[in-house]
Amino acid sequence: MPELPELEVVREVLQQRVLGRPILKVVVAPRGGPLVIRDLTHAGFEQGLTDRRFVSVSRRGKFLVMALDLHGLCLVINPKLTGRLQLCTPSAKNIGPTHVVLDFGNPLEQLRYVDSKRMGQLYLTDDLGLVPTFNQMGPDALDIDLATFAARLKSYRGEIKGVLTRATFVAGIGNAYADEILWAAQIHPYRKRPSLNPQEIERLYQAMQSTLRESTERVREAMGDDIHLKPRDFFAVHMRGGEACPRCGSTISSVTAQQKITNFCRTCQPGGLIRGMSSPRSGGGSR
Ligand SMILES: [Zn+2]
Repeated sequence: MPELPELEVVREVLQQRVLGRPILKVVVAPRGGPLVIRDLTHAGFEQGLTDRRFVSVSRRGKFLVMALDLHGLCLVINPKLTGRLQLCTPSAKNIGPTHVVLDFGNPLEQLRYVDSKRMGQLYLTDDLGLVPTFNQMGPDALDIDLATFAARLKSYRGEIKGVLTRATFVAGIGNAYADEILWAAQIHPYRKRPSLNPQEIERLYQAMQSTLRESTERVREAMGDDIHLKPRDFFAVHMRGGEACPRCGSTISSVTAQQKITNFCRTCQPGGLIRGMSSPRSGGGSR
């Protein structure tokens, strides 16, 4: 669930809080089910991290890359739908199933990886190319210019929301922010990419930039150092089916397909036949 704005703020906080501090202890808590950690160095996850220090924290799409003070060694975190990081004291209550704890000692502080469904992954590696899907990612959504965006878009023919959430096209956007971007661009989420004209593509690009940048600021204000939070009360349409569109007052539509909810405004985002979708439902009243 964390997407670019949340992960960018998590990156900033980790950069400020954990760099240069020795990792005194590493605890991994496997309890059956899919493995959350993968040691691609084959030298041992706990051993590889213990006594090391992080020297930088970067983000690419929905991956956090925490570089260690040993030639090329990195802890790579891909929280996927359900993973969260928590920065806290050792006495802090668990906020959910906690799979990895890095202990930074005095002043007592821990970085915990929490994941209710074990969907996310933590990799220890000295070669980012070994991390599944990492090298297949397209440019980060905040690092792409309009010309590159438009050129890359040409090779996709599907519905525009699906294209926006593909990490191979542009990295960092998931289900929630795709809804917000398309609402800002006033483009129907199920329009096929070839139906978009150059003006709409530019509008989409600008909406992607402004939505992600403004949302990052909102998340930064709301999150502070509580990096396990996911502040989203500022959303215009996502998870607001049945409420009034903040732009035109029409009722926001809600369509569920493949266990993913899409919210949009049929007045502000006209057109787009709904194909292959389960029956649209609205949280209340007309659509
Ligand atoms: Zn509207």
